[in-house]
Amino acid sequence: METFSDRLAVVEERIEGACGRAGRAREAVRLVAVSKKHPPEQVQEAFEAGQLLFGENRVQEAQQKIPLCPPGIRWHMIGHLQGNKARLAVQLFEMIHSIDSLKLLRDVDRHAADQMKNIGVLLEVNVSGESVKHGMSPGEVEGVLNEATGLMHVDVLGLMTMPPYCEDPEKVRVYFRQLRELRDACRAATGFPLEELSMGMSHDFEVAIEEGATYIRVGTDLFGGR
Ligand SMILES: *Cc1c(COP(=O)(O)O)cnc(C)c1O
Repeated sequence: METFSDRLAVVEERIEGACGRAGRAREAVRLVAVSKKHPPEQVQEAFEAGQLLFGENRVQEAQQKIPLCPPGIRWHMIGHLQGNKARLAVQLFEMIHSIDSLKLLRDVDRHAADQMKNIGVLLEVNVSGESVKHGMSPGEVEGVLNEATGLMHVDVLGLMTMPPYCEDPEKVRVYFRQLRELRDACRAATGFPLEELSMGMSHDFEVAIEEGATYIRVGTDLFGGR
């Protein structure tokens, strides 16, 4: 039977290939192992294979799972976050990739202040304009960044996106590129370094790396189907 280590090795090779093509250092890309819908035992196996960074997309599932997993793991929230779960998300996660409104950013800041901590966040941008997707519009990002200068407990580290699913990953390259270009423009306009770009999933992460991803979020190709 194929183990997590086997699948990790294949993903690792694909990451290295994409970094090579793009002339980027392997260390510039971090792999978030998306463990949603998979039990703690599989997280344990992944951890033993050397994977330390994991992503979950639902606060409640993470709340159940995290206490059953090895304590050395770093957890990132990657899914849509409702305001009423923000307090718990700040408790559970080291970073939130999915800040999709100024209101949510303010809620997260307030809860982080209450918990006397700082939390890294990414702004989720709906670059494709698909109505089913979460995320702020590209035009909103600069204004949110300007407001974020007044928030002392969130560190806005970059941008995240989820393009539409396309069989051919080349078709979504344009969205990854748009996210990077938006980042460059917002960096110039606001002075936020915005070093992180969270983009790319199992079937399209190589294209995302070629376009500048610093975090890729991979579930299926590491853990199998859900
Ligand atoms: C599930 C999920 C992923 C991983 O998707 P795979 O196709 O299984 O690699 C990445 N990002 C988000 C936000 C997700 O919800």
